[in-house]
Order: sequence, then structure tokens, then C-alpha cells
Amino acid sequence: MVPDPTRRAALARLALFLPGAGSAYASGRNFDPGPGRSDAVSRLAPYVRHRLVTEEEVVAAVLTQHGFAPARKFIQEVCWRTYWKGWLELRPTVWRRYLAERDAAQAVTAGGAALAEAEEGRTGIDAFDAWVRELAETGYLHNHARMWFASIWIFTLRLPWTLGADFFLRHLIDADAASNTLSWRWVAGLQTPGKTYLARPDNITRYTQGRFTPRGLAMEAPTLIEPPAGSAGTLVPLEAPDPAVPSLLLVHHEDLCAESALPSDIALRGVLAAFDPALLWGEAARRFVGPAMDDAAVRAGEHFGRVVIRADRLEAGALITAAEAVGARQIVTPYAPVGPVADALAALAPVLAEKGIALRSVRRRWDSGLWPNARRGFFAFDAEIEGHLRAEGLL
Ligand SMILES: Cc1cc2nc3c(=O)[nH]c(=O)nc-3n(C[C@H](O)[C@H](O)[C@H](O)COP(=O)(O)OP(=O)(O)OC[C@H]3O[C@@H](n4cnc5c(N)ncnc54)[C@H](O)[C@@H]3O)c2cc1C
Repeated sequence: MVPDPTRRAALARLALFLPGAGSAYASGRNFDPGPGRSDAVSRLAPYVRHRLVTEEEVVAAVLTQHGFAPARKFIQEVCWRTYWKGWLELRPTVWRRYLAERDAAQAVTAGGAALAEAEEGRTGIDAFDAWVRELAETGYLHNHARMWFASIWIFTLRLPWTLGADFFLRHLIDADAASNTLSWRWVAGLQTPGKTYLARPDNITRYTQGRFTPRGLAMEAPTLIEPPAGSAGTLVPLEAPDPAVPSLLLVHHEDLCAESALPSDIALRGVLAAFDPALLWGEAARRFVGPAMDDAAVRAGEHFGRVVIRADRLEAGALITAAEAVGARQIVTPYAPVGPVADALAALAPVLAEKGIALRSVRRRWDSGLWPNARRGFFAFDAEIEGHLRAEGLL
């Protein structure tokens, strides 16, 4: 079932979860009792992924309720999303390499029986086959199940990790370039070289509370090898929007809370809500994001008191027509992290410039402050979180 795709539902979900964000989360988060059963996790991912609610808002609410130390584990998990995004921002070639390797693996493996058995949940490994069905039916898997799934895909079924990552992207409602690609790489031993994740039957039995005891799983997880990913770069420098220039706000599905992303001094003439299904990978995400975009468009229109124009493609013609309709010479949009929306915007900028329309992206302070810390492993990043929260007045 698709979660209610509105900010109101996101905030209600957060409020309902908040009492459990302290010790209950820390002790219970690894248990996956199965679909439809009560568990200790928040299920906020589709909302945070598309920023119907932001990481900063979630962390601020948790701090108010629990303080830092008691909610340390939950805050850390929320910040894994920030870390993965930052890590990929600093190394965008890793995303391009993933796409190229996925396409190459598809050319070799597509049509093969092993891939079809895995994708259709016919491997004979009871747990794995059940997760395939759960993913297809709900668009969600518990984090621990995602780890076991990826490990079995890579080390037991010996299928290319890029095709497993692609399978997740096509079925998860929260499908995300950074969290998905880098988590699969982490399981495969590419993210932390030499350190792989092996799914063990006793661990699965314990944390599924006896639902599964899979047989025939790989006993070892030899690390995959690849050419070095290269050292971390820096964040793409952004030119600030000119507050004096009449502007159009572009809302896209990487940030569906544009009203809190933009500086307040922009001379906005209108809002363009562009939902482009081709920039998502699967139907589950499209079913969520389509109405979530409607919700975001209405909120932005009301917040800025401006007319809302809709587009079903993120392409130059729609942007130029909308900008001209409201007399805008500048399009301002929340920053899109590495992925298809960012690629689309990068391709659009020169076409708009030819028409005398500047495209300006605005990065949130949360991202500008934390992403540069994702140069190394998570623990170095984690060490900076408390300082950032203090600097932002959240602690
Ligand atoms: C192989 C694999 C693939 C994954 N693919 C995706 C993906 O495409 N999109 C996606 O959003 N997450 C992905 N994750 C991360 C994680 O599994 C989900 O974000 C989490 O399960 C969402 O459930 P929740 O909201 O109940 O999480 P909770 O445990 O309640 O965590 C709260 C929030 O913290 C963030 N979070 C928690 N764990 C992680 C994590 N390991 N990495 C990043 N953020 C995290 C999410 O925003 C989540 O909503 C993947 C993990 C693995 C192991």
C-alpha cells in the first residue's frame, strides 16, 4: 500500500514515531517481524527521501523530545542518508560508473534464468523469495532485510550487484541514487574496501523472530574488486539567485518542500511543479511521487501566494513557457543531488541561458554544512554531527 503522499501525513508519521525514537529504536531497530506487524523503525524513508519532511526537521523533532544522547542511534541513522548523499556529491563519477556497469551487466545477463528466478522470487531460498514478494507488493523492505537480500544476491546467487541495485531502484518507493547505490556497494565490499557483508542464517532467524532459517547460503563473502573510485572532490559551487530578478520557482521531486528551501528575498512571480515520471525508476515511486508533487505544488503556491503551473516533463519547452507566462528571467530551484534530476537540470541550464533565463539552484544549509564531511568513512562524518547541530542552534 502506498503511504499517504502528503507533508501532513509525513508530519503525522513523525509525531506518531517520536516516543519510540530513543531506546526503543536503538534496541529494536534490527528486528524485522514482517509485513503488517508492528516494528521499531519509523518508515519515514519515502517522506525523507523526497523531502516532504527534511532530515533537519526529523532530527530537530527528535532532539526536542529526547535530547541528543538518548536519540543518538536514530539521529545517526537519519544522518546516514545525509552521509551517502554527501559522499556521492563528492564523487559523482561513482554514480556514472554504476550506470555504465549496470548497462554492461544487463547486456550480458538479461534473459538469463538465474536473474529471472531472483527477480520473480523463485530461487527456493524461502526468505529471499518472500522479500521479493514483499518488495513488489509494498515498495518497502526493512533495512536489515535489504542487507540480507543484497548479500544473498551477490554472494549466494552470484548475480551482478548492479542488477540487484537496479531491481531495488525499480521497486522501492524510497528508491534513491545515493542510499541505494552506496549501500549495495557497501554490502559488496566496494565501499569499505575489503569489508563485505555476509548474511548468516542464524542472524536472519534471530532478527526475523524465527520466520526464516534459509538453507544453502554462501559461507563466505569474497570482496569484489574495482579500479579505485578516486579521491573526494568538492561540492559544486553555486551562484546565488539574484533577488532583484523576477523569478519562477521550479519544484522537482528531489525536494518537495520548496517553501523552506528558498531564501525569503527572491522576487517570485510563479511556481512550476514539474513531475517527470521518466526521472524515477519504478511504478511504486511514481505512484507516490505524482500525488506528492500535487501536495508540494499546492503548499508552495499558498506559501508564496503565487500561481502554480504544472508540467509532466522536466524539459526546456515547459520551463521556458512557464517562465515567459509569469515574466520571469530567472528560475530558482532547490538543489538536486547526484541523480537523474540533477542530470536533467544540468542539460537544461545552457538551453535556458540561450533564452536569457538563468537557472539557479539553492542548497540547504543542512547539506552545505554536512556534505563536505563525507570525504572519508561514516565514523569520521558522525564525529562532526553534534558540532553541526550546535552550530545550527539545534542543540
Ligand atoms: C542494500 C540497501 C539498499 C538501500 N536502498 C535505499 C534506497 O534506495 N533509498 C533509501 O531511502 N534508503 C535505502 N536504504 C537505506 C535504508 O534501508 C532505508 O532508508 C530504511 O530501511 C528506511 O526505513 P525506515 O524509514 O523505517 O528507517 P528508520 O530505521 O526508521 O530510519 C530513519 C530514517 O533514517 C534514514 N536511514 C536509516 N537507515 C539508513 C541507511 N542505512 N542509509 C540511508 N538512510 C538511512 C532514512 O531516511 C530513514 O527514513 C538501503 C539500504 C540497503 C542495505
